[in-house]
Amino acid sequence: MTAPVLQAEGVVKRFGGLTAVNAVSFTVAEHEVLGLIGPNGSGKTTMINLISGALTPSAGTIRLRGRPLSGLRPDRVAQAGVGRTFQLVRVLPGLSVLENVMAGGVFGHRRAWGPALEAEARTLLQRVGLGGREGEAPEQLTYIDQKRLELARALAGDPALLLLDEWLAGLNPTELQTGIALIAGLRDEGRTIILVEHVMHAIRSLCDRCVVMNSGSRIAEGPPAQVLSEPEVVRAYLGE
Ligand code: ADP
Repeated sequence: MTAPVLQAEGVVKRFGGLTAVNAVSFTVAEHEVLGLIGPNGSGKTTMINLISGALTPSAGTIRLRGRPLSGLRPDRVAQAGVGRTFQLVRVLPGLSVLENVMAGGVFGHRRAWGPALEAEARTLLQRVGLGGREGEAPEQLTYIDQKRLELARALAGDPALLLLDEWLAGLNPTELQTGIALIAGLRDEGRTIILVEHVMHAIRSLCDRCVVMNSGSRIAEGPPAQVLSEPEVVRAYLGE
């Protein structure tokens, strides 16, 4: 049996007296889209930061294809195969839109800076809806376009696991439809994804399985239609 793409076991993160993630365990299988959902403050972004190496767990282990990630710096985690977008987007100023995507290929996948990577970056920009914007300065892009850029940059690293932290947030209805179709395309080509998301119909249509968090703990796990109808999950979302 091959190891799951991601395996989180008993992961704990404390900030002083606050336990933001409380002994959370889950796995993500190859080609699976896992929804990490739950009300605000439930620990989802902290979990994503623990996986990507931005934070170090207080306890527990996180493995990528069997290899422990805990304690690795974010750049090492990226090189190990974890790509991500941020809730608050982070573009690389001083580099063009095209160069931002190419940088993702160099840092995430140790690709050589050159024509092959450039051609791929152009294709990715086309795919996320930024075709023709290659020469622009990323800091001049709108928030939504910066999110598109981040996704292209993450994909340029050809990640074994892609972490999307509220990538659909803030989109208007038309953009939302395009965004969902884009993620569905990534799923259909066999990518393995953890989706932190609040948009319920996106969760229902994109996720194979959901892990629901509340107050740092995992309170439910299963297919979206099932978990979203569980009374404890409904109560958590209603803040009761
Ligand atoms: P979510 O992504 O589900 O909205 P977060 O992971 O952002 O939740 O936050 C979980 C809890 O941890 C919240 O109570 C939040 O205030 C707290 N928290 C997150 N990051 C920090 C930090 N760097 N220092 C202190 N508390 C934090």
